Amino acid sequence: MSDAKTGAERRTAASYERLPMFVDAPHVALGRDLDARLTDDDGALHDAPRVAARLAELGLLRLLVPTAQGGGAWARDGAAVDVRALCVAREALAYVSPMADSIFAVQGLGSQPLLLAGEGTRRAEVLAEIVRGARVAAFALTEPDAGSDVASLRTSARRDGDAWVLDGEKVFISNVGIAHHYVVFANADPSAGKKGISAFLVPSDAPGLTATPIAMSVDHPLGRLRMASCRVDASALVGDVGQGLRLALGTLDVFRTSVGAAAVGMARRALDETVARVRTRVQFGKPLAEQQLVQAAIADMATELDAASLLVLRAAWEKDHADDARAGAVSVAMAKMYATEAAQRVIDRGVQLFGGLGVSSGSVVERLYREIRPLRIYEGTTEIQKLIIGGALTRP
Ligand SMILES: Cc1cc2nc3c(=O)[nH]c(=O)nc-3n(C[C@H](O)[C@H](O)[C@H](O)COP(=O)(O)OP(=O)(O)OC[C@H]3O[C@@H](n4cnc5c(N)ncnc54)[C@H](O)[C@@H]3O)c2cc1C
Repeated sequence: MSDAKTGAERRTAASYERLPMFVDAPHVALGRDLDARLTDDDGALHDAPRVAARLAELGLLRLLVPTAQGGGAWARDGAAVDVRALCVAREALAYVSPMADSIFAVQGLGSQPLLLAGEGTRRAEVLAEIVRGARVAAFALTEPDAGSDVASLRTSARRDGDAWVLDGEKVFISNVGIAHHYVVFANADPSAGKKGISAFLVPSDAPGLTATPIAMSVDHPLGRLRMASCRVDASALVGDVGQGLRLALGTLDVFRTSVGAAAVGMARRALDETVARVRTRVQFGKPLAEQQLVQAAIADMATELDAASLLVLRAAWEKDHADDARAGAVSVAMAKMYATEAAQRVIDRGVQLFGGLGVSSGSVVERLYREIRPLRIYEGTTEIQKLIIGGALTRP
């Protein structure tokens, strides 16, 4: 599909069709379907409160919940969330609207702990609402003093009769303002250290919970949560006391590869926009596209993009074929780190080739330049990915 305003051509499916060793027919079909149907003519994918409903119409939220729990994560016999399907969806969404991509991913982060805890049946209504786009989920792990070092979180949970009472603060929580629930990680047994960390399904209107927005360089729903004697029902506990860290890290493990796919989608958009621009922009009597230094820049963009895409697909394939949840950790870390860093460089070259237009508000590459930046920080910074890779390779 080509963009009417800029002439950029979208070819998400084509990149998967050329790599049948990594994907199955349903992944290619999903890419083709999104190439044909994923447009944002009415602006819904750029309007946070309307995004979930549009994602449901597109059938994408079904990918977050396995068939057995009422979703349609078809490609792995419906038994688990299919990482390659997530990657196809996120690449296509991020190409069109990084905000919609982020909301899609956080719907997953806010439902996956329930699935990992084996609560699909008990929480069937919650999951069904997520799939219908009627419920927006969120995932609240980060705290002011616990970012990369998540295990040091201080939010506490204590049992009081038929309730849990939560106290603490969370920051940089995506979907604040539109979420119906937060999966909050809190320590229910401080004497056990990180083994006391537990997960709670906290409704956004729970008494004692205050959510305030954080302004960002891009227009994403993001905010801070304060819990002051925040009371939730005893049934809010997800899994058992002490399972929280496993659920949090397990959830991030499912989604981290797809952050790389989102970066690929944004970089692909930047490349397509840039190619369309240099074909028509004439300087020194001929199109920029015919100037050799411009061709060299395009070659660098395309090569880094393909390298990122290949690392993402390898990691996603490994996750989809792994028996052990921890398998593929190095490939996943490489994919997340390389794809997000490479996408930043690709987009930056795009900005350069647009010249003054590249830094003017309203241009697609200028928006992408701001949109790509948080991907190098969230779900494990680049430095943390390096620690995972380097640690695994040097461990005796
Ligand atoms: C847009 C956005 C959305 C987010 N959404 C969510 C969400 O929905 N839910 C949620 O729970 N969190 C969310 N986060 C938080 C995100 O996961 C954290 O910002 C991230 O984990 C980093 O934590 P921090 O910001 O506290 O940085 P810090 O941990 O303080 O790190 C600061 C710097 O120090 C580096 N550093 C830290 N430790 C080491 C080390 N050992 N060696 C080398 N360098 C190190 C880091 O790489 C980083 O460069 C979001 C963040 C952003 C920006």
